[in-house]
Amino acid sequence: MSTIFTKIINREIPADIVYEDEHVLAFNDIEPQAPHHVLIIPKREIHTLNDLTEGDAELVGRLHITASRIARERGFADQGYRVVMNCNEYGGQSVYHIHLHLMGGRQMSWPAG
Ligand code: 5GP
Repeated sequence: MSTIFTKIINREIPADIVYEDEHVLAFNDIEPQAPHHVLIIPKREIHTLNDLTEGDAELVGRLHITASRIARERGFADQGYRVVMNCNEYGGQSVYHIHLHLMGGRQMSWPAG
């Protein structure tokens, strides 16, 4: 089943898009948990981390490379940041279209809640 992120990909609802290529889209989170909070998603619908296959290895790499590029472009790469992907209920996933959260601009704590 499609999610709100497919509507963002298809420009059916607005989003503050910060990066796009053939495979990947990145946009600011609507409820930012840090001064910089960007969601990086594949354009192809993949529901959870559990649905990834060997064939998705390059795509997953692209998501991470996009995260580090955005961190560099925004000037917080050296300071540091967090990249996280939540999976299913206990992982705190609420949108079932995989996405990396890129969060930066403040000190992160550990362990994550
Ligand atoms: P999850 O909880 O699945 O790991 O993360 C989903 C994220 O999507 C949340 O941080 C939430 O704020 C964000 N989000 C949910 N709906 C929208 C939306 O319509 N637009 C944007 N830009 N972000 C959204």
